[in-house]
Amino acid sequence: MAVNLDPDLLSILVCPKCRSEFRVDDEANELVCTNTGCALAYPVRDDIPVLLIDEARDTRTEETADQA
Ligand SMILES: [Zn+2]
Repeated sequence: MAVNLDPDLLSILVCPKCRSEFRVDDEANELVCTNTGCALAYPVRDDIPVLLIDEARDTRTEETADQA
């Protein structure tokens, strides 16, 4: 299921935590922060990004756990 976001909208969205840009993860239906030090993934529900830190998933714990 692909994320169907307006490119113009996506271009103005930034991570509310670190203000970095997003990349779209179509498989997970998420917007993922491109800042590797932050790397929060925000859910997209009904094509609307939920940019709430409380709703975000920290992807660092899965991919770079060795840095902890
Ligand atoms: Zn971020």
